[in-house]
Amino acid sequence: MKRILITGGAGFIGSHLCERLLNEGNDIICLDNFFTGSKDNIRHLIGNNKFELVRHDVIYEYSAEVDQIYNLACPASPVHYQYNPIKTVKTSVMGVINMLGLAKYCNAKILQASTSEIYGDPLVHPQVEAYWGNVNTIGIRSCYDEGKRCAETLMMDYHRQNNVDIRIARIFNTYGPKMALNDGRVVSNFIIQSLQNQPITVYGTGNQTRAFCYVTDMVDALIRLMNSDYINPVNLGNPAEYSILDFAKLIIELTNSKSEIIFKELPSDDPIQRNPDITLAKGKLGWEPKTPVKEGLLKTIKYFDKVLFENK
Ligand code: NAD
Ligand code: UDP
Repeated sequence: MKRILITGGAGFIGSHLCERLLNEGNDIICLDNFFTGSKDNIRHLIGNNKFELVRHDVIYEYSAEVDQIYNLACPASPVHYQYNPIKTVKTSVMGVINMLGLAKYCNAKILQASTSEIYGDPLVHPQVEAYWGNVNTIGIRSCYDEGKRCAETLMMDYHRQNNVDIRIARIFNTYGPKMALNDGRVVSNFIIQSLQNQPITVYGTGNQTRAFCYVTDMVDALIRLMNSDYINPVNLGNPAEYSILDFAKLIIELTNSKSEIIFKELPSDDPIQRNPDITLAKGKLGWEPKTPVKEGLLKTIKYFDKVLFENK
């Protein structure tokens, strides 16, 4: 049994992580400012005497005696992280400084939720951890990409300078139940549009690619990484790569939807090709995703169907 702090614990991935670690018998502090997260995601855990919910913003200091910290606090959807870009940088940079300070103070292990976005619009494909990336420092995605890059830098510097025990998870596109309805990312947008027989909004030509990992596989990977002794960054994701256009067609098929596909302007700096090389995760963590994309999508579709139509 461990005392575990999960920042961003009321968010999409964080709420699944809270549930899994609580079920394994740990004491959980779920810390969140509810910017993109929701009490609904963790409502069923409230009342468990091993679960504590704290409303707090990671840009301010926080103190508690804990053994492990999962630092997930940060909006992940481009729509949400671009809403207040200055706050996004503060959340990534000041947030990780505060959490690293806490880890140093109580000698806790700390895992940072980094991202495939640190590779920017990658020139190496699939992306390996040794690739340094191709990021525009002044674009509309930079608040997120550079914030997360700086967070990785701070993690390594606290490790080298103060011997803090760190883990860096480079998370690739993850999806599943409990994504917010207004999240704006491709999986939730396409499923919600399909279920409502509304036009499916493909940005650009739809030839850009992403690779999608189901959330329970991601949670498993994060826990394995935390419990490993591997310090350097590790890619976590499902290498099943789809063009966004093919992905739209797949979701129309799985929902039996009457939706048509419409094309909208591609947002600037939208990465063209993304797919994780997970050789390192396989070797160091003995992990690879188990959930085929179709199976994960059907579970996600069932979730959104319930949320959208249960009161009708
Ligand atoms: P999410 O937006 O659902 O969750 C983020 C949580 O952090 C929310 O509950 C939000 O309210 C909270 N939060 C935001 N700013 C905060 C602040 N200043 N103080 C306290 N809490 C704050 O997103 P998610 O998809 O669950 O992502 C979780 C983490 O994983 C993020 O750090 C994200 O960058 C990273 N990540 C996610 C993906 C993905 O595909 N889901 C991919 C790469 C990286
Ligand atoms: N996208 C799209 N239609 C949407 C939402 C997203 O075509 O309604 C595209 C987006 O331009 C990007 C890909 O889907 O190429 C993944 O977008 P998302 O916001 O999910 O995450 P990203 O990987 O870009 O951070």
